[in-house]
This record gives sequence, C-alpha cells and structure tokens, in this order.
Amino acid sequence: MNHATYSETETARDDPATAPFGTVFAKRMSITYFKNEKWTEVEMVASDQLTLHPGAHVLHYASTCFEGLKAYRHADGAIHTFRIGANVTRMQQSARLLYLPEPGEERLKMMILDTLKANEEEVPEAPAAMYIRPTLIGTQVCIGSAAAPSFEACLYVLLSPVGDYFTGGARPLRIVLEQEHMRTAPHAGIVKTGGNYASALPHIMRAKTEYQADQVLFCPEGIAQETGAANFLLINDNKILTKDLDETFLHGVTRDSILRLGAHMGYEIEERPITIEEVLDWCRTGEAALSGTAAVLAGVGELVHNGEIVKVGNGEIGPNTEKLRQALVDIQLGNATDHFGWVEKV
Ligand SMILES: *Cc1c(COP(=O)(O)O)cnc(C)c1O
Repeated sequence: MNHATYSETETARDDPATAPFGTVFAKRMSITYFKNEKWTEVEMVASDQLTLHPGAHVLHYASTCFEGLKAYRHADGAIHTFRIGANVTRMQQSARLLYLPEPGEERLKMMILDTLKANEEEVPEAPAAMYIRPTLIGTQVCIGSAAAPSFEACLYVLLSPVGDYFTGGARPLRIVLEQEHMRTAPHAGIVKTGGNYASALPHIMRAKTEYQADQVLFCPEGIAQETGAANFLLINDNKILTKDLDETFLHGVTRDSILRLGAHMGYEIEERPITIEEVLDWCRTGEAALSGTAAVLAGVGELVHNGEIVKVGNGEIGPNTEKLRQALVDIQLGNATDHFGWVEKV
C-alpha cells in the first residue's frame, strides 16, 4: 500500500458520518487511577494509547466494565447529555458486582462532562452524536489472582463521534431465537462487562453464518430475554410488552426510556416473562424491536425459529416502532419537550 492510498483510507475512516460505529475517536480522554485506596487526580490525555502491565488483572480475568451513552448538539449549538445519571448509577453497580473500586457518582459524572468540554469542537451536528464510553478496568499486577478481585483500577472516559446509526435508511433485522444456549451466566447478565460479550459470541457467530442473521435473541428456558447487546420489545398499536427486570439480563436505559415515553404516549406497558410461542403469536400481527443506545430502537423484520424464517408482520419496520423511535430521538435532539428531565446541558 503506498502512502497516498493509506492517507486517503484514513481520511475516509476518520469521517464519523461514514465510518463504522465506534471506529473514530475524539482526541482527548480523561483518566484516573485507583491506587492505595484512593483515586488520583483526573487527567486529560491523548486518547490513542494506554499503558498496561502485561500481567494486569483485566487482561487475564476480565475485570472490566463499561458504559455507553450519547451527547447531542442541539439546534442552538449547545451540547446535551441524555440520562447521564442512569449510566453513572449502572456503572457503579457493575463495578460493585465485579469487586472493582467503585467510582463516586460526582467524580464519574464530572469526568464525563469535562471530557465532553475538552472535545467540544468534535461533537458533531445532529443527527450524528458523541458516543461516550466510560471504561473501568482492574490493573492490579498479579496473574495469580484468578479467584481474587483487583484492588487497583484505571477509569477512563473515551469519546467516539458517531453518525446516525441508520444512515442510508433503517433495515429490518433478522433475529435467531436461541433456545439452547444462554448469553452469559444468569447472575452476570446485569453487569455491563466484557466477558459477557465473549460468552455470547459463539452463538452469534453461528447465527450469522447459518442464517445470515443480525443478532440472536437468547431465550433461556423458553423465555425471550435479550440479544447480544440490546433489549427486546414487542409492540402493537396499544401495548408495549417486554420481559420484567431480573439479574439475568442488562437493564437498558433505552428500554426504560421507551417504556416511560410509551406510557406517556398512551401505550399500555406490560413487563413479564414472555414465552417463545407468545413471541411467534404476537409477530403474526404485531411488531418487534431491539432497544439500545447505539441504534435507539431497531425494527425486527424476521425471526428464525427452529431453522425456519418467520416474518414479523409484513417483514418491514413497524409503524409503532418508528413512531416511538422518532419520539425518543426528538427528545434527545431537543426537538420535543422533555417531560422527564432526561436531557441535561453540558
Ligand atoms: C448496553 C446493553 C443494552 C442496552 O442498554 P442501553 O442502556 O439501552 O444502551 C442491552 N443489552 C446489553 C447486553 C447491553 O450491553
């Protein structure tokens, strides 16, 4: 590869509007270390490197958790976060469940806001956004700590400008109903931790190669739970139905936002265990969608059940899915009244 080609490629990839989600990074990140029972002063550093001892706990025993939230530039030019408090609380919970040093609420929130301010000019115009990735890792140097937590840690906040997830139009997803395997160990589902994604990967890869599927809906004991990185909702003209919260799966902020916004818009909200049979029955006439920060609400067009492809409704993204997604995006972008106190100016 000659130099000209290389730099051209780099330029194309550096454009958040066209680059794959999460591949472009803002120049600066904030970082702090937990050592001798306390956090060091937060520093703003270059975001393209991190020094770790090869024996760091995280590299061997997966003592890691992260968060994902977005900040948006509103029409007035000001930057606003969406439900930052919910993500901070969830990261504290993940840290506790992994026995990692727990960052204080104020410290973590300030780190996120300061990192946004330090990279202000890199926050794109809507509908593009700044994706925020707080990350906490165990840095204790001890490869003999397989059965012990890391008492030292590093916390950093990385930013990635991202385009509209659906640039070029949203496409209905194909989802495999997985009845045989779990995404992760049931007690760990609630933790936003790296190991869970590694655990789910073989099942997702099988669904991709065998069925050209986008994702897998894990249905342990025949109950529709969640996919590899998003929550699952059934929607129709009157109702939003989704699994009730327990520790086996990740409690999405988007899931909660859709349920609360949906209730406000007049939808009946039902949270309870849903069997596979019920999902299939619902999808004869109703809609199905995945919720998560990256895509907000993505319509499911097809389910793969016991090797057979079953259409959800007419196979297109449902009108209620689109209506709910748009209503939430309007709040996030400051184009609709935020009745919930979710949007905060940076
Ligand atoms: C992050 C995540 C979600 C979605 O959570 P949001 O807060 O809505 O972004 C759902 N499931 C898993 C496994 C996740 O990692």
